[in-house]
Amino acid sequence: MRIIVLGAGVIGVSSAYWLLRAGHQVSVVERREAAGLETSWGNGAIIHVSSVQPWAAPGMPLKVLKWLGQEDAPFLLRPSALPRMWRWGLGFLAASRTAVHNAGALANLELALHSARCMAEIRAGTGVEYDYAGGCVLKTFGTAAEWEAAARAHEALAPHGLVTERLDRAACIAREPALAPVAEKVAGGLHFPQDEVGDCSKFSQGLAAWCAARGVEFHYGTTVEKLVQRGGRVAAVATSAGEMACDAVVVALGPHSATLLRPLGIHVPIHPVKGLSVTLPRAVWPEGPRNAILDDGRKFALTPLGDRYRIVGSAEVADFDTTPSPARIGALMRGVTQLFPAFEGADSAAGAIRWAGLRPMVPDGLPRIGPTRLGGLYLNAGHGHTGWTMGAGSGQRIAEIIDGRRNSLAAVA
Ligand SMILES: Cc1cc2nc3c(=O)[nH]c(=O)nc-3n(C[C@H](O)[C@H](O)[C@H](O)COP(=O)(O)OP(=O)(O)OC[C@H]3O[C@@H](n4cnc5c(N)ncnc54)[C@H](O)[C@@H]3O)c2cc1C
Repeated sequence: MRIIVLGAGVIGVSSAYWLLRAGHQVSVVERREAAGLETSWGNGAIIHVSSVQPWAAPGMPLKVLKWLGQEDAPFLLRPSALPRMWRWGLGFLAASRTAVHNAGALANLELALHSARCMAEIRAGTGVEYDYAGGCVLKTFGTAAEWEAAARAHEALAPHGLVTERLDRAACIAREPALAPVAEKVAGGLHFPQDEVGDCSKFSQGLAAWCAARGVEFHYGTTVEKLVQRGGRVAAVATSAGEMACDAVVVALGPHSATLLRPLGIHVPIHPVKGLSVTLPRAVWPEGPRNAILDDGRKFALTPLGDRYRIVGSAEVADFDTTPSPARIGALMRGVTQLFPAFEGADSAAGAIRWAGLRPMVPDGLPRIGPTRLGGLYLNAGHGHTGWTMGAGSGQRIAEIIDGRRNSLAAVA
């Protein structure tokens, strides 16, 4: 089949890879000059099988309301975004019930574990380099009560395949010596041997180049304008470079997916939720952390990534704006320097890059991977805070669904 993949983020490129392997004639349309330059660029770089629980959770709606209008809150809902969000908000509320949250966590864990196996296969089969490191993700907690609660929640997923190791303070420091000077701030930690680290943008670009060398056509600098349907099927994609005929289309436009589908009467609840990152040369603290550290109370993740560090955090509902707010970058860096004072002022150091990206969030936290109501039109989007974790597996799944090798053919939109 002639299949056009829309978007060359990690989801689009992974879809193209598996569709190529299944023997299809694949083209990818991307408005930027290369793959992996939008949300897939500056993310936390963690393949966190351990953190795929949906954000909609018991108690979360109340917290979001409490933070309303607080400029430095970990989750900020801007009142200006509210009028367009009521339907999404109701979905989030409904998905925050314990049973729905738990079912979502299990479904996501299954996909994340599958995705990790797909990543290993891609690494072995293509040799793509992306600053990969395995088994080096540590969550730290400031109080024994927080540590215990998180440990129990993660250990409950053990029968479903998640491996969690409890580390007391001494074990945390043995694993991560950079914590030694602040030992009294760490009550305990959790280590996740299945989690991995790697640069999502490098991976997307490397895999795109591998696919291009094997026949996938990448149309960079080309904007998708609309989908053309004939006889109840998608027949072509209208782009800034003209119309491209096809047998099937995979929409992988991340946070922009819903905008393209709306004129067709297909409504998918994907809303952009802005996150921040600061990328720093490793030279700012050469003897700093060798593990990715996720600090639960201070709401940041700090990832050593090749010759740099990546610091991420913050969630802000503010439509499609991608300006990193100085106040929120300040709040993120304050959390980091409370634990690691050596990063004081590092976000202004030479070579530091401040960035904002839009998580493609669905209210229930379950990515939409499957057919739509329009013949030949498929969706692979809505991966929220876990697109890097689930990218390889989501690409494999959509290829299976298109070929009828997987049975989940209920329309996702
Ligand atoms: C701060 C932050 C930290 C994160 N940390 C992690 C993490 O540690 N681990 C994890 O698993 N996930 C993380 N995520 C989530 C992850 O980055 C996303 O889920 C993932 O990158 C989404 O990939 P995507 O391919 O769907 O979207 P994108 O990467 O945004 O790709 C969509 C592509 O579509 C293109 N496009 C859009 N509109 C058009 C158009 N009209 N025509 C042509 N092209 C178009 C865009 O240019 C873009 O390249 C994080 C996200 C953020 C913001």
